[in-house]
Amino acid sequence: MTSELRELYQETILDHSRKPRNFGALAEANRTAEGYNPLCGDRARIDLAVEGDVIKDIRFQGAGCSIFTASASMMTEGVKGKTRPQAEALFERFHDLITSDPQQASRRAIPELGKLTVFAGVSEFPVRVKCAALAWHTLKAALAGEKVPVSTEVSESSSGDGGGRAL
Ligand code: ZN
Repeated sequence: MTSELRELYQETILDHSRKPRNFGALAEANRTAEGYNPLCGDRARIDLAVEGDVIKDIRFQGAGCSIFTASASMMTEGVKGKTRPQAEALFERFHDLITSDPQQASRRAIPELGKLTVFAGVSEFPVRVKCAALAWHTLKAALAGEKVPVSTEVSESSSGDGGGRAL
């Protein structure tokens, strides 16, 4: 990754952490889930308005580090208007990005991720991976209608995707 690119990425993350998009409660939400990352203290709440299979609207609340806030903010932008399978596929790609080898991640073009590519650098900081993934795990739980808050430190309950995968 060039230093110019790295700087651009950091600016984008900073911008979203300072001015999170789609922040707040969603009055017309019909799905809600909460998540917690005990390693960092990040807390997330995702409100969804789902119609059929489509995420019509999404908002998030919570408190945490700048990586969590920026990731949640950009996630809401990335999945609004998408179907559940599309949102889950995006999460798979995003998860690959933040957990793969930094050198490879920065070189691999993942057009579907768009702006979310700015999180490629997170793969260099394993502790931050959970900060970046928390909002997504919480989104997945909300889509699945899970009532129990998700935590990055317990194995996921099986939700039809093989379950039990380490975050
Ligand atoms: Zn964090």
